[in-house]
Amino acid sequence: MIVKVALNGPFLSALDYDCPFEQVRPGLRVRVPFRNKSKVGLILGLSIETDYDLSKLKTVTEILDDEPLFSELELRFLSWAAHYYHEPIGEVIMAALPKRLRSGESLAVEGLKQWQRTTLGQTISVEDLAKNAHKQRAIWQVFTNDQAWSEAQLNQQFENWRPLVKTWQDKQWLSLSHGSCLPPVQFSDKPNHQLNPEQQAAVDSVLSASDEFGAFLLQGVTGSGKTEVYLAMIESVLAQGKQALVLVPEIGLTPQTAARFEASLQQRVVALHSGLNDQERHCAWQAIRSGEVKVLLGTRSALFTPFANLGLCIIDEEHDLSFKQQDGFRYSARDLLVRRAQMHKVPVVLGSATPSLESLYNVQQARYQKLVLTQRAAAAEMPSIHLLDIRGERLAEGVSAQLKAAMQRHLDAKGQVLLFLNRRGYAPVLMCHDCGWQAACPSCDANLTYHQAWNELRCHHCGYSEKKPPVCPDCQSKEFVRVGQGTERLEQTIGSWFPDKTLVRIDRDTTRLKGALGKKIEQARSGEADILIGTQMLAKGHHFPNVTLVGLLDLDQGLFSVDYRAAERMAQLIVQVAGRAGRAERKGEVMIQTHHPEHPLLMRLVSRGYDDFAQQALTERESAQLPPYGFQILVRAEAFDINHALAFLNDIKDALLGVAVSEPCEVWGPVSAPMERRQGRYRYHLLMQSESRGALQTWFSAIESQIYQSSLVSKVRWSVDVDPQELR
Ligand code: ADP
Ligand code: ZN
Ligand code: ZN
Repeated sequence: MIVKVALNGPFLSALDYDCPFEQVRPGLRVRVPFRNKSKVGLILGLSIETDYDLSKLKTVTEILDDEPLFSELELRFLSWAAHYYHEPIGEVIMAALPKRLRSGESLAVEGLKQWQRTTLGQTISVEDLAKNAHKQRAIWQVFTNDQAWSEAQLNQQFENWRPLVKTWQDKQWLSLSHGSCLPPVQFSDKPNHQLNPEQQAAVDSVLSASDEFGAFLLQGVTGSGKTEVYLAMIESVLAQGKQALVLVPEIGLTPQTAARFEASLQQRVVALHSGLNDQERHCAWQAIRSGEVKVLLGTRSALFTPFANLGLCIIDEEHDLSFKQQDGFRYSARDLLVRRAQMHKVPVVLGSATPSLESLYNVQQARYQKLVLTQRAAAAEMPSIHLLDIRGERLAEGVSAQLKAAMQRHLDAKGQVLLFLNRRGYAPVLMCHDCGWQAACPSCDANLTYHQAWNELRCHHCGYSEKKPPVCPDCQSKEFVRVGQGTERLEQTIGSWFPDKTLVRIDRDTTRLKGALGKKIEQARSGEADILIGTQMLAKGHHFPNVTLVGLLDLDQGLFSVDYRAAERMAQLIVQVAGRAGRAERKGEVMIQTHHPEHPLLMRLVSRGYDDFAQQALTERESAQLPPYGFQILVRAEAFDINHALAFLNDIKDALLGVAVSEPCEVWGPVSAPMERRQGRYRYHLLMQSESRGALQTWFSAIESQIYQSSLVSKVRWSVDVDPQELR
């Protein structure tokens, strides 16, 4: 028997091996020899013939599993993903496995230790223990119910129980076993919510088609009750004995989210995110695969987890950029989730207050059905938005007089104020006052940001840092000016204006320590903080009911960026930040400082709302044949020698131009990336574009294998990005 094995590495297809074992099936892991090493791979298919010389074929050395890790349907899905994104199949399969399974460890996860009475132990009653040994008696008492007691349960009730349990184990009164690897869980009480009519209609639409594919766009502002809708749908799917897969942005996956799901569903939910260790990850993965747990809450890569019986897919904040993997295997978790739901014939729900233009376009094309939630659950009104014209105005430390006055007003009325500035650090530019010298990164085309807390200059692109020089390196002057505003500087300024108010700053610098973000978010939610200052970390996922004023200090870059998606992102950000604010009793206010109050897209957004803005933006995309009206593939190349990057991409371009295409396809470049040099490497890209997705894919596939054979492959770092989200 010949088996086709997916191995980690730059091979576009699976590799053939001779397999002497019985009972081979797709989905089993095998150990195989590869270039004098032993590697772990996964069987994708079986065959009785091979294109290779049979006598030279290597032999599978070991089969690692008794049962397939993925169903045939899931393997087809993974192969589809590899094909669509032009990613080696082995890399895709390995991305879908927890690390322990990639390295060949056994599928069974060693569970938590637990103890139970033996038959001998059952003959020992509490009365048999010494009368004054209170602790012994108390601990023995718990075992008399003849259930297994785990380490965690014992820890909860007793201190220093181990020596006693060890003694009883040695006496064979207790036996040790391994239970589930999942820690015990307790749910809070189930909240008793009655869905409002819009929520109920959304649930009904999705459930009416629960055993076939259907894609639904659930649009509703923050606080409109989308999560309640998800929960009601999940509850119904679970009642049918099926499982649910829920994707959330990195930042939205907090322990509180998981606890809310568990309380509402009254059953265990596993969360799969980057904070887990290898054992926890393996355990969560296997609990879903085996069907032991019914609900998976995860960030982007959770999408590849095998399910025993998948019944519903949900992606919350579907417009969020964190669903697009930006290195290695550059997939869109949203697009793949829709594809997976289609293959499994189950519904998929995409939720957002600010849907991506792609999803709105899919609604127009009747590929998705739109469901809307127009009311905020707690009857809170949406805040009103004003543009502050700051042309010609003298700003005090980046803040206009109008905004400052509004802050005073809201603080006096006991409201919370949120200031948004998407730049961390103290100042983005450090300049010599005498000669104009600017601190620049030695390995990137970028300025260094000044951080006052460390008195350091840091590069936000490569991580380089140095102490602030005492004198200008060019002219020895001691006079530096710190140009521009970062959150650190804003915090200092605002602190000096409102000395008796409590400030909380939330950005990557203040939330580096484990648990710091959660603590700060809690200070913000509880109302302990009067003023919140933050970067986009603040803009996502959290609802701050006490915030009544939101100020956005500097969004003008979004209006004139080279990236055609910048306006969409800016609009989403404004609406998302605005959505943090407001509660039932008091309507919120949003103030946007801008030099371009007459910009048509910005005006549309402010006066007519996100949908109207999106419609206008789609019209602009259509006239330029940009996505979603056209399709793109971007090939990136980076090299220390600029000529290597250019030659590599020019070879690809030449190869493409030599292929006949059925429908018009274009190739642009090579051109330099917006930041030409980063971490010492020169960065260039080649953009392919067509109105036909199929033609574009066929075109690239025709020359794909030539790239792997290029003599420059060892000198450049390169990648393929299908449907790129950022042309960086
Ligand atoms: P979203 O996910 O759209 O931000 P949530 O589902 O988190 O909104 O709802 C916001 C708040 O309103 C939550 O505290 C939620 O418990 C509450 N809520 C939502 N729907 C209802 C309802 N039908 N009845 C009572 N409370 C609700
Ligand atoms: Zn100088
Ligand atoms: Zn740098």
